[in-house]
Amino acid sequence: MSQFPDIARAMLVFAHPDDADLSAGGTVAKWTRAGVEVAYVICTSGQRGSKDPTMTPSRLAEIREAEQLDVARYLGVKKTIFLRHMDGELEATKAFRGEIAMLIRRYTPDVIVTHDPWMLYQLHPDHRAVGITTVDAVVAARDHLYLLDQAEIGLPPHQPKELLLARAEKPDYVVDISDTMELKIEAVSRHHSQLDHVPGWRERVRELAASRGSAEGFTYAETYKRIQFR
Ligand SMILES: [Zn+2]
Repeated sequence: MSQFPDIARAMLVFAHPDDADLSAGGTVAKWTRAGVEVAYVICTSGQRGSKDPTMTPSRLAEIREAEQLDVARYLGVKKTIFLRHMDGELEATKAFRGEIAMLIRRYTPDVIVTHDPWMLYQLHPDHRAVGITTVDAVVAARDHLYLLDQAEIGLPPHQPKELLLARAEKPDYVVDISDTMELKIEAVSRHHSQLDHVPGWRERVRELAASRGSAEGFTYAETYKRIQFR
């Protein structure tokens, strides 16, 4: 019997390569080990995430997509979809909402994980835009009078069982990742372009996970705001 009997498929929608792994890597490792089919939707290729003066956006995109694919293989993520929007320029438009809704209808996930768009003082515009667009896309994907053009090409409405907002302002769902913490650290470390030059990140990731688990008595945890449907 699976540890997650209600979840056959999970979809994570995040702004940049490394966001999903930093926010939810321990949860993803638990899911894939339990046989859950996991898909990553990475909205930008992180083309601007470098302080190297010799780097170009297109080369960085190539590097970061390769890093994300390596991590996906390592964690057992089945499918990684790069939407290749420009880093730093995402906006919560109707077109972007339709794009995410189409993927929800196509992959029919039972659970969707994304950025918490209501996180206070969330500075990165891409994180806000992806969070709110994904929440809106859940609504558009589930009702049959929305997105009739998608239904016409064989993508009927789909409603997930739940939505998990990562790094939530007011979390109410705690996932014990004590047994997958080392997998998370290894996964995150494979985003070399982002972390190789950052001293002490492992300790900070551990401290955060430990503080999130402390109230429940878990060594390490990831926490979410959980919105259940039906
Ligand atoms: Zn990010």
